[in-house]
Amino acid sequence: MIIVMKQGAGKEALAEVKKRIRELGYKPHVIHGDTRDVIGAVGDERGKTVLQSLESLPGVESVVPILKPYKLASREIKPEPSSFEIAPGLAIGGDRVVVMAGPCSVESETQIVETALAVKAAGATVLRGGAFKPRTSPYSFQGMEEDGLKLLAKAREASGLPIVTEVVNPGDVELVARYADILQIGARNVQNFALLKTVGRIDKPILLKRGMATTIQEYLMSAEYILAEGNRRVILCERGIRTFETATRNTLDISAVPVLKSLTHLPVTIDPSHATGHAHLVPSMCYAGVAAGADGLIVEVHPCPEKAASDGPQSLRPGEFAAMMAKLREFVKVAGKTL
Ligand code: PEP
Ligand code: MN
Repeated sequence: MIIVMKQGAGKEALAEVKKRIRELGYKPHVIHGDTRDVIGAVGDERGKTVLQSLESLPGVESVVPILKPYKLASREIKPEPSSFEIAPGLAIGGDRVVVMAGPCSVESETQIVETALAVKAAGATVLRGGAFKPRTSPYSFQGMEEDGLKLLAKAREASGLPIVTEVVNPGDVELVARYADILQIGARNVQNFALLKTVGRIDKPILLKRGMATTIQEYLMSAEYILAEGNRRVILCERGIRTFETATRNTLDISAVPVLKSLTHLPVTIDPSHATGHAHLVPSMCYAGVAAGADGLIVEVHPCPEKAASDGPQSLRPGEFAAMMAKLREFVKVAGKTL
């Protein structure tokens, strides 16, 4: 249920409504709007009509049901897009397209620092790099783990770029959060509910990838798991879905961008690297993502793709990335945004 407060309703009225929501066995989530506050009361759907009684409280304008199964993620509860800081002075979800770039995996200090400086010079504002890697084969490189996180921290120091890195299990969330500015949940973990709940309890933005066979509704339900625990800073990422097509690694569902933007207030990004699997296809998909309304991109860049420990074929060289960024500026301008 959404409890819509009257314009100008005071703090006491808000506190009283929150208290009554808790007494009725629901969890209140306050959303401060431009003109008025609303409170989402979430919990067991079956008895939610008891919340209707809150309509008689001072300061309450109306109590309306949220029709979508994802509540806090929906546009019903927050019609305007969410914009929030992912690092000091860097917001996502507003006028700026956030470009996150870096290697699939952290491999060495030289590799990650060199890449960080190169992507920063080309205009990226976040450095990516995997330290814990979810690999299809148990025999593939699994990542440098904490040593990789330490190298990411060095690269942040050298470049000034905040870092996004993946966490693959709930037991590592605290460790990864100690180093990372943004925690990534990979496609394979989109329905790892224990992991989603754990990252929902930390105070760091979460980049949540769409699964390769996840419907939009299932995907938003996964975002809801994080939001329901109290973490409001969820960034969505379309990274290609599995179809019958084999010419590309996955199929970039570009329509997911406007679909998601119409259903949720959360920022939406695309990952053209995992979507296509081929470096030469990445630039055009970056432009398409911006044209479709994406709030950001996450792109794999490696100083020497032929020697990459993972995902070399889809990684741009620093020079190719810089050329892509130069052209991207024009698309970003047409979209009415900045880089
Ligand atoms: C990655 O970003 O390196 C990654 C493993 O992505 P995904 O979870 O989308 O496959
Ligand atoms: Mn990768």
